[in-house]
Amino acid sequence: MTVPARLTVLSGPSGVGKGSVISVVRRQHPHIWLSVSVTTRRPRPGETDGVEYHFVDQAEFGRMVAAGELLEHASYAGNSYGTPRAAVEARAAAGVPALLELELHGARQVRAAMPEARLVFLAPPSFEELARRLTGRGTEDPEVIRRRLDVARIELAAEGEFDDVIVNDDVEAAAARLVKSMEISAD
Ligand code: 5GP
Repeated sequence: MTVPARLTVLSGPSGVGKGSVISVVRRQHPHIWLSVSVTTRRPRPGETDGVEYHFVDQAEFGRMVAAGELLEHASYAGNSYGTPRAAVEARAAAGVPALLELELHGARQVRAAMPEARLVFLAPPSFEELARRLTGRGTEDPEVIRRRLDVARIELAAEGEFDDVIVNDDVEAAAARLVKSMEISAD
């Protein structure tokens, strides 16, 4: 079994199923490390500080940006998100395959900072299906969904910038393709 160290960014519009695909990948390949981002967004029901995100206020987020503690950061639908740099660098130094789940601007920043990173885009089968999934999730109010769909149109137009595009028509199949894209052989 060869497991080359690789930093992979998974991007794609909100609601496309990045979280579900990543859960399957991590269940099947627990040695893959997933970065935990900081965000100023409020926790959704069921989210725990330090697990899905480190939830911080705007002042703390600003401090981290100013101190250079974030590898990349972006604002998305009214909130700020960023990747703590030290944790990623530690995994890279240790040769651990790492996965970052980022929106488009973050993916572009990683590409600029680390050209060796692999950028993978998770696409919905169609825009209509994306809108259906985002609405069906029931976690956001209509105004938030509208803003996320506006951003999704822009994100979908950028899929050509990615090394690989995976259509999420089936979560298990998409997870298998992501693992293949990361060049990690099955354990
Ligand atoms: P959500 O609020 O749905 O958890 O995330 C909103 C968007 O922000 C998603 O597209 C997600 O992939 C992205 N995101 C999560 N963490 C980060 C981060 O650290 N940096 C960037 N640039 N985007 C992130």
